[in-house]
Amino acid sequence: MSTAQTHARTDLSARAYDHLWMHFTRMSAYEKSPVPVIVRGEGVHLWDEQGRRYLDGLAGLFVVQAGHGRRELAEVAAKQASELAFFPVWSYAHPKAVELAERLAHHAPGDLNKVFFTTGGGEAVETAWKLAKQYHKLTGNPGKYKVISRAVAYHGTPQGALSITGLPGLKAPFEPLVPGAHKVPNTNIYRAPVHGDDPEAFGRWAADQIEQEILFEGAETVAAVFLEPVQNAGGCFPPPPGYFARVREICDRHGVLLVSDEVICAFGRLGTLFACDKFGYVPDIITCAKGMTSGYSPIGAAVVSDRIAAPFYEGDTMFLHGYTFGGHPVSAAVALANLDLFEREGLCRHVLDHEDAFARTLGKLRDLPIVGDVRGNGFFHGIELVKDKATKETFTEEESERILYGFVSRKLYENGLYCRADDRGDPVIQLSPPLIADQSVFEEMEQIIRAVLTEAWTLI
Ligand code: PLP
Repeated sequence: MSTAQTHARTDLSARAYDHLWMHFTRMSAYEKSPVPVIVRGEGVHLWDEQGRRYLDGLAGLFVVQAGHGRRELAEVAAKQASELAFFPVWSYAHPKAVELAERLAHHAPGDLNKVFFTTGGGEAVETAWKLAKQYHKLTGNPGKYKVISRAVAYHGTPQGALSITGLPGLKAPFEPLVPGAHKVPNTNIYRAPVHGDDPEAFGRWAADQIEQEILFEGAETVAAVFLEPVQNAGGCFPPPPGYFARVREICDRHGVLLVSDEVICAFGRLGTLFACDKFGYVPDIITCAKGMTSGYSPIGAAVVSDRIAAPFYEGDTMFLHGYTFGGHPVSAAVALANLDLFEREGLCRHVLDHEDAFARTLGKLRDLPIVGDVRGNGFFHGIELVKDKATKETFTEEESERILYGFVSRKLYENGLYCRADDRGDPVIQLSPPLIADQSVFEEMEQIIRAVLTEAWTLI
């Protein structure tokens, strides 16, 4: 059955509505309006099926680090598929998985030398929680199973990762989820309940909330803390100075593993290959995915310290966990080529050299009455929208619906900027361009956003 003929849409758009169940998408929104169909990408640009060009302000979905249309990555994928398209890493190895594991271990800090591949970020988070539970069981702490994460943080959709996620609205339809996932405040200093004018004190306070939660639950029950280096959901919350050093101390004091969820932040997004390096901490596990291949093929991983892996390497013990497509040969080959490209083109250096300019250019938007805050790190920023700059009053649900989704989101796209307007926390525009972006891209973004937000203000 098809409704393709009943709507004034392109053929592809109509077929998309009929059969493609889009993710996190209110499908009814496309009952009468066309589904945007993107057909091509080149560099920092995308084209839709009508030939209209867009600036990719989100690197797809925090993924396309090296930019679109990189033939060398596509060719590596084709070559690997013809040589060995598939073999699992279940008791067997293949060269590209070995090389990639070795290379990630080389780049990871401290003794994070063991790489467990997945096919994406949520699976990496799920893996890390299961690993932490089994690790504690193997080392004589069978009661340590709980996890602590932060309010409003997003960690993926598998039921464990969703339990770790701090967005009640996203979880409600699937409750009861996995028990034992507890939340603490995040590092949103713009809306800090205390020490809003003193980042160091705020950082100490925010880290101490984790310790209080560990003590409240009982350290003998807590397995791990999951934190993003810069929290995405809620609109880019960088860590206050000293935060991660203190969290590391707290985790060590209580025998709790520190998991750095770098699904967005790794692979140059903040200017370092692994984001914990940017803030000088060494976690026990890094979860990563997205930018590992710049999106040319899917893969994820949990990068684990030798210390945590050690008990799994003894006797008849094994980690009872795996994914058919984890460490897929094509994805592993592409990830290696992507890392070569990072080195050849100095992509991390480029981000470090241009992050101030990116922040400065977006920061110009602060003169608009609707812009409450512009914050972020590297090529990863959020612009928080407010109704009243002085009081930081946020939108009502109705205003968010009407202004954020009904206008800002649509208008940015119509004006040539693909990015995300999100109100999982307070309303924000998320920006994370491919890592090849330069000043001209930052300025084009700023100008498009300025025009749209100026008009949005008249609708409040
Ligand atoms: N963790 C973080 C911090 C993320 O941002 C995401 C996705 O955006 C995930 C986990 C889930 O990754 P995936 O969508 O690849 O399952």
